[in-house]
Amino acid sequence: MSDALRVLRRVFGYDAFRGDQQEIIDHVVAGGDALVLMPTGGGKSLCYQIPALVRRGVGVVVSPLIALMQDQVDALRALGVRAGFLNSTQDLDERRLVEAEFLAGELDLLYLAPERLRVESTLSLLGRGSISLFAIDEAHCVAQWGHDFRPDYLALSELHERWPDVPRIALTATATEATHSEIASRLKLQDARHFVASFDRPNIQYRIAPKNDPKRQLLELLRTEHQGDAGIVYCLSRASVEKTAEFLVKNGIEALPYHAGLDARIRAENQARFLREDGLVVVATIAFGMGIDKPDVRFVAHLDLPKSVEGYYQETGRAGRDGLPSTAWLAYGLQDVVQQRKMIDGSEGDAAHRRRLGSHLDAMLALCETVECRRVGLLAYFGQQSTECGNCDTCLTPAESWDGTVPAQKLLSTVVRLKRERNQKFGAGQVIDILLGKKTAKVIQFDHDALSVFGIGEELREAEWRGVVRQLLAQGLIAVEGDYGTLVLSESSGEVLGGQRQVMLRREPESARRAAKSSS
Ligand code: ADP
Repeated sequence: MSDALRVLRRVFGYDAFRGDQQEIIDHVVAGGDALVLMPTGGGKSLCYQIPALVRRGVGVVVSPLIALMQDQVDALRALGVRAGFLNSTQDLDERRLVEAEFLAGELDLLYLAPERLRVESTLSLLGRGSISLFAIDEAHCVAQWGHDFRPDYLALSELHERWPDVPRIALTATATEATHSEIASRLKLQDARHFVASFDRPNIQYRIAPKNDPKRQLLELLRTEHQGDAGIVYCLSRASVEKTAEFLVKNGIEALPYHAGLDARIRAENQARFLREDGLVVVATIAFGMGIDKPDVRFVAHLDLPKSVEGYYQETGRAGRDGLPSTAWLAYGLQDVVQQRKMIDGSEGDAAHRRRLGSHLDAMLALCETVECRRVGLLAYFGQQSTECGNCDTCLTPAESWDGTVPAQKLLSTVVRLKRERNQKFGAGQVIDILLGKKTAKVIQFDHDALSVFGIGEELREAEWRGVVRQLLAQGLIAVEGDYGTLVLSESSGEVLGGQRQVMLRREPESARRAAKSSS
């Protein structure tokens, strides 16, 4: 039996390696560099923990997840692994103790926050000990493309110059092709062997529905398909976390809130209960889930649009780690797009940063509006090919597409007329009211019933118009701006108005039902 397998069984208590683990571990034990791309829950930790135990010296693990270090170290110590960490949460005495253990060769693993490696005293400490390997966790943090770029990570490229003989293993769960090659070049891992696991999670059923009454839609999902199941519901704001949790409790579902604004004690308690008890629902902001390892999460629901496909993948990936059928359900609406664009416009950072956030959002929107298999789209985003899965909403109920060129032109001309004739900009609500010929108080106040476009869009219902706006936004054929999400033309709107571009839209589920009924 190999040393690695012996450690897997004796220390960690598992029978066999999963996926590429064995190959990765053998490669690193033999002194090779590795770049590991593996989805969340795939078992990345063992890929450096075992080589650190097999090789001579201390395995140095660089991780930005400072809040998790204590837990990780405690868990390892409980298994009898000699682990320690150095980060900013410790006082001087605690740090000294860990440093002494490191120098005395009394550690197997030392976890470090990346900023530690920019401090000369840390580097000189490492220089005086014996290092078995460097593991760089969450390696996408080095990429400008990534959503949590950290300048500290750039310094990690120097590890190789200082310790040319120590193998390095970089690990990430969120690499697109672009991120992937950026990690390799920035960390100077060109010669590293790449291990790319499949990102497919076949037991997760992906579903994305238009949002109309999200809490009710969620309740319906829980009652019809996930009665008594454990699950996570993600909301964007603390306020909606609270409201949604209350709503579920009122409707007889045991739900606990989790967000950064809650008292740390309550937060820890809710998390512990979720892990320990059966069938609890946690309603949370994305603060929840990092390092959560509960095998039987049967559903992950998003009541708000995630900011990126990576985020969506990571959050939905917390469902079904036990391999049993699970649901990833997302409700998304026009307001999500308006809100996120607003957040991007108001975000800190330079124009390039905002553009990046914009392209992350665009990719997420494209996934929402696709008429193709969701899994194919999701995996393609990570640079992986697949065939239609038969286990997502578009495979199970194929989405129809329809030619929305004329409605798109009507909508865009309304926006143009408001601007040209009145020098006004309005949000989707008012524009749709004009198209539908509704004499609301606001329409009358602004004399919008006198516009030539008033009532030219009566062939579609309000929900359908909202779908049109949403999809035009997703395709970049219209844009929103400002605090109120006013509609403005985008660079490509002209092609639609001029008739050079056909607009294909996904039919909304309810209008698909209506269309089917009227034709039967
Ligand atoms: P990642 O870091 O890729 O998200 P982890 O390293 O946290 O994943 O592993 C996820 C879970 O899978 C952990 O509970 C871990 O103990 C378990 N695990 C990893 N490898 C194996 C294995 N070979 N056999 C059984 N369980 C494993």
